[in-house]
Amino acid sequence: MPAASPSSSSQPAHRLNHARSEAVFAAARELIPGGVNSPARAFGGVGGTPIVMDRGEGPYLYDIDGNRYLDYIGSWGPHILGHRHPRVTAAIHAAVDRGTSFGAPCEAENELARMVVDAVPSIEMVRMTNSGTEATMSAIRVARGYTKRDRLIKFAGCYHGHVDSLLVSAGSGALTHGVPSSPGIPASVTAHTTVLEYNDCQALEEAFRSSPGEYAAVILEPVVGNMGLVIPSREFLNTLRNLCTEHGTVLIFDEVMTGFRLSYGGAQELFGITPDMTTLGKIIGGGMPVGAYGGRAEIMKQVSPVGPVYQAGTLSGNPVAMASGIATLTALQEENPYPRLTDYTDRLAQGLSKLATKHGLPHTCPHVGSMITLFFNPEIVTGYEVAKHSDTKRFARFFHGMLERGLYLACSQYEAHFVSAALTEEHLVQTLAAADEALADVARIA
Ligand SMILES: *Cc1c(COP(=O)(O)O)cnc(C)c1O
Repeated sequence: MPAASPSSSSQPAHRLNHARSEAVFAAARELIPGGVNSPARAFGGVGGTPIVMDRGEGPYLYDIDGNRYLDYIGSWGPHILGHRHPRVTAAIHAAVDRGTSFGAPCEAENELARMVVDAVPSIEMVRMTNSGTEATMSAIRVARGYTKRDRLIKFAGCYHGHVDSLLVSAGSGALTHGVPSSPGIPASVTAHTTVLEYNDCQALEEAFRSSPGEYAAVILEPVVGNMGLVIPSREFLNTLRNLCTEHGTVLIFDEVMTGFRLSYGGAQELFGITPDMTTLGKIIGGGMPVGAYGGRAEIMKQVSPVGPVYQAGTLSGNPVAMASGIATLTALQEENPYPRLTDYTDRLAQGLSKLATKHGLPHTCPHVGSMITLFFNPEIVTGYEVAKHSDTKRFARFFHGMLERGLYLACSQYEAHFVSAALTEEHLVQTLAAADEALADVARIA
């Protein structure tokens, strides 16, 4: 029986008490739109009330009612080492004791920049920001400044933060201009953005053929986490690299999620494909607000104050955030958890798949490195068109079944789960035991 709370591991799952959580969240709704400071936390895709958390420890999250959860999100990516890794916590404390922000250069900026340059094949120079959104927004601006072109290609279902020009849906017809996917974004802003289907080499070739020399940049998640896990084909990656080179277009890998996760050098190291620019975030801040963008020196020298492309940040390169990032990357180098993470995730995927089959539920369970999604979808998800046919009702039932049993999953079918280095063999057994019961529930309502 999986542990549902620290006090009584045999307590029936449905008796988790969320009284305080519900009261605090009700108050939050009066103060903050939807009660959340980022919509991904709002349980919009699964229903119910978000759980208000109190603290994290290793593989666990504890809510304010005292319930304990095995965490498969890790703050949506940053906590690859688990919560409160001693090295990271100590580094943050030491940095705070010397001051929280200087508005002037500090040595820690060089140290993290050096680690990023050494790790990520495409990055010769790097600029720190405070979020992944700032990183992608800035990379797009630099690519446009460098190429002196306006047009962009992005792929349906890839998320690059809430950047105006990238919050865009495909128009009708494969090669039309994108339309804004949120009010507040002028159509003139997204008119420069072409949206294509992920893994569709033909559409990509057609786009370049019909507008040669017009695209400033192609941006993509080199493994997609943000429509559930979608893996690129080798042909797709090669086509991207070749077409961008041929047309002088800047290829941007958005590795905010995959950087330092799929391998220490990210997806580009794993696949052996080097983009022109890379964006980072999440893990490089170790749980503090950090983003970064970088690339070849020739491109990065476009950035102010050496170049004409303006980009800035009052708190960018913040000493506490840098210390947290340095400690996280140092721990990753020393502990090299990647083989263990991959092994755990492989076995989790095999286990979930076997259980879903046992309960007669059509599914696929793609996984790479420490990222995994159980799609309630019989087809292999190659892009957004297939992803959107997933059975989100079944996912919602699965999510709540797992939550009741003390497992904290991503609250949407269209997210990847993240395995952390704090998870052990025992947790794998616990997770699969809970999944067996939760999937039986899903099958009952099917
Ligand atoms: C999370 C994410 C972002 C946005 O980062 P924020 O820090 O939330 O602004 C951008 N790109 C990808 C691939 C992400 O997963």
